[in-house]
Amino acid sequence: MIRSVIHIILHFLVPAVVARFSFREQWWKAWLIMISAMIIDFDHLLADPIYDPNRCSIGFHPLHSYIAVCAYFVMMAVPKTRIIAIGLLIHIGLDLTDCIWMRWE
Ligand SMILES: [Zn+2]
Repeated sequence: MIRSVIHIILHFLVPAVVARFSFREQWWKAWLIMISAMIIDFDHLLADPIYDPNRCSIGFHPLHSYIAVCAYFVMMAVPKTRIIAIGLLIHIGLDLTDCIWMRWE
């Protein structure tokens, strides 16, 4: 339970810190774009059960697949998609830390 709560808080906090220090002028706008990356969690709707706190998302859900992560890195190269790509990669990184934490338990 505590892991899930910390995980959700970090999905808002980490993009806020990155936005604050990387996009000083319009950090609020950058933060909103980055947290919109959570939309990739809609791919959980394809799974059964939809939410399993002990399932690692990375490599399981389509938008959390290794190919999708490669696409997010490619999006980093395009200035117009760079902020959302940063949000997506932060999201994947946080999901990955959750996977590591769950294996530790
Ligand atoms: Zn996710």
